[in-house]
Amino acid sequence: MTQVDVIVIGAGAAGLMCAAQAGYRGRSVTVLDMGKKPGRKILISGGGRCNFTNENASPENYLCGNPHFVKSCLSRYTQHDFIELVDRHGLAYHHKTLGQLFCDNSAQDIVDILLTECEWAGVNVALRNEVLSVEKTATGYLVITEQQSYSCESLVVAAGGLTMPKLGATPIGYKIAEQFGLKVLPTMAALVPFTLHQHDKDRFEGLSGISVPCIVSSEDGTSFKENILFTHRGLSGPAILQISSFWRAGQAVTINLLPELDLTEQLATWRETQAQKSLKNSLATILPKRFIEILHESKAIPDCNVNQLTHSQIDELANYIHNWQIKPNGTEGYRTAEVTLGGIDTDELSSKTFEAKKAQGLYFIGEVTDVTGWLGGYNFQYAWSCGFAAGQYC
Ligand code: FAD
Repeated sequence: MTQVDVIVIGAGAAGLMCAAQAGYRGRSVTVLDMGKKPGRKILISGGGRCNFTNENASPENYLCGNPHFVKSCLSRYTQHDFIELVDRHGLAYHHKTLGQLFCDNSAQDIVDILLTECEWAGVNVALRNEVLSVEKTATGYLVITEQQSYSCESLVVAAGGLTMPKLGATPIGYKIAEQFGLKVLPTMAALVPFTLHQHDKDRFEGLSGISVPCIVSSEDGTSFKENILFTHRGLSGPAILQISSFWRAGQAVTINLLPELDLTEQLATWRETQAQKSLKNSLATILPKRFIEILHESKAIPDCNVNQLTHSQIDELANYIHNWQIKPNGTEGYRTAEVTLGGIDTDELSSKTFEAKKAQGLYFIGEVTDVTGWLGGYNFQYAWSCGFAAGQYC
């Protein structure tokens, strides 16, 4: 049996950050991961370029049963602290829209930075080492893996959520929480594309690959202004991924297909300037032609010239385009989701240390906790912030 001060389960973003911090405090730390490589989700993130933080990250960008929970860790280790860290390592990166920061070369650069920090801090990273179970001992915890047993004073669970099972997602984090009497809130795939009911799927299949700037709103009033993307399975794109975290089964989403334009005014202008032009062809100049054809076939767009529209038809059409309602059949689930909504109830954890209130020396950080960021680098920022926080105490 190997004896160390701290065992961290999970060599992902949160686990590696925490391990390095604890190592710098002089703790002997071993990180256990079942994968062949560390940071596998980091490697595939942001299309391989890792959107590693967001310049505007703040507590409002997170969903959590307790909206105050993330305030402490986000303020103690901010996006600027992480940017300072990557600057020190000479990372080449660039700014995209909406405050998002991406690597210029590859997400591997972020993993290399974390591994360098772990090396400098004397952390041992043990890969291909699946944790099977955990037991409480008189002085701490016993962690049993496929290969051997470890005894530790502090156990940090950074085992992630249920997303991307083919990348080694397991429910071990939730199981350990339940074993020690912590409440685990129901989980759900989030930041995930929608699938459509068969009739909508058949109708919109031909639009696969088309992207439209929109405002998408959920029934709880949350909305995001970004692009939607038609896919062969349903709807995706940043606006859809964002709203998926707020959508619940059976609900509709409302899509403003022309957020920059008042269609009522536009139709009035066309009545003056191109009265004899067909409505369908006129609309095809401001929305994708194939989309307009589909709406025309389904009679959502009247078969007439612009000047033949009645006032009530104008109102109806403007309302339809600005408030296009679609009821998803479901989501693509954990297979393609970026994050897991729900998880370990944050009321069970100290927001300062991430230690379980009911189990001394047991810490939970990262996606396994009930904290879910918006799309745009917010989830990694939470991983850095909570990893840093727990690393000061474990
Ligand atoms: P994880 O990164 O999931 O790490 C958990 C680790 O625990 C894994 O390495 C796993 O192998 C290990 N593990 C699990 N069970 C066991 C076990 N029993 N024994 C041993 N090891 C175990 N967020 C952003 O902010 N920006 C992005 O650009 C971005 N892009 C993404 C793209 C994709 C396709 C996906 C899926 C997610 C993306 N995310 C992004 C979300 C982000 O990856 C997660 O929020 C983040 O990785 C969570 O970090 P974590 O350390 O909590 O968990």
